[in-house]
Amino acid sequence: MITVSEALAIIARHTPPNPAEPVALGEGRGRILAKDVVSDTDWPPFETSAMDGYAVRLSDAAVPGSVLVERANTVAAGDSPPEPILPGEAVRVMTGAPLPPGAEAVIPVERARREQGRVRFEIAPEPGSHLRHRGESIKTGTRLLEAGRRLMPGDVALAALAGSDPLAVVARPRVAIAVTGDELVAVGVRPRPGQIRDSNGPMLLALCGAGGWPASSRGRVGDDASGIEALFDAAGDGEDVLVTSGGVSAGDFDMLPEIARRRGFEILFHGVSLRPGKPVVFARRGPTLWFGLPGNPVSTSVCFHLFVRFALGRLEGDPSPGAPRVAAELARGIASAGKRETYRDGILTHAGATLRVEPLATAGSHDIAAHARANALIRLPAESEPPASGAIVECLLL
Ligand code: AMP
Ligand code: MG
Repeated sequence: MITVSEALAIIARHTPPNPAEPVALGEGRGRILAKDVVSDTDWPPFETSAMDGYAVRLSDAAVPGSVLVERANTVAAGDSPPEPILPGEAVRVMTGAPLPPGAEAVIPVERARREQGRVRFEIAPEPGSHLRHRGESIKTGTRLLEAGRRLMPGDVALAALAGSDPLAVVARPRVAIAVTGDELVAVGVRPRPGQIRDSNGPMLLALCGAGGWPASSRGRVGDDASGIEALFDAAGDGEDVLVTSGGVSAGDFDMLPEIARRRGFEILFHGVSLRPGKPVVFARRGPTLWFGLPGNPVSTSVCFHLFVRFALGRLEGDPSPGAPRVAAELARGIASAGKRETYRDGILTHAGATLRVEPLATAGSHDIAAHARANALIRLPAESEPPASGAIVECLLL
């Protein structure tokens, strides 16, 4: 059986980044840029005032108490650049207004008093005070944002000031979710004895939503060959990645891998040395990828975080795809490790400058109650000794 890192390497070989597509600037947050954003302007784009105040020449206001002639017209933000400042003149300028050429400082209105067409200044300004110079923050032609960056709200502001709308981003993979099992009923239905509500379907949609990946539901499919065949025959019709839960273990009704193969999928791996989640499947047919996740809800979630998230991140061009990993101090020892690489639920918190992780007690891979409380998975390497309290462990952020 392959290891988790071998599985990730196989996934990486089949998940080149999607092509670029244009997206309206307002829809850009969270997307991965496909092309650099280069500024078509200086920023600020003109000499401008940082305060509501008076533009002056330094030699005219060299001492506190100077009195200057006030120009009749105030310059507001949005006005055209005014005429040059004359000797002995003060020009009233509002924040963001273009400055008159020759202005060497702005004195805030709070430090000025109007006296019949003249202004008296309490202070002598520092050279350049409250002026913003053209291009002091950004020069025309500067690369503002690099391809591969996931756009944050501040990046959207940068792209906007540089006139970059629409943006070129990497197309997001489209996901379809299906759950399998004769025991499953819809959430709105009270299960009869022997039945359970489908919790994986809603969870997988929520996981895709959390990652920003558009996902649709293919509903529930029973453990019968014809329904599963129909599911695989329709795969790729509107999605890049099909994600299923259930039906991939060694049970009598676990038929998905065999039917997928018959329907033209190449199985790239089936089974990873991992706990929970060992029976996970990864396959492809042409451009369509299939992840068959085991049905136990914690296994479904762990496999999503480990493998599906990694694949979707790569397809959308994320340079560091997959759940972020951090090192943390174990708050309590873990009694058992194991032969297989193991992922345990944990609650990660800040303890001063370090991260601490508290392992959660779990009843097993069906124990979604414990898993739902976790904000991290503690990774225990294969064949490792059980880690003691205080040990440094690797955690995946959920
Ligand atoms: P399977 O992987 O099909 O063998 O299922 C393993 C376990 O997960 C069984 O106890 C199933 O009842 C349960 N299970 C399968 N699918 C779901 C689902 N969609 N929601 C909740 N539990 C499920
Ligand atoms: Mg099943």
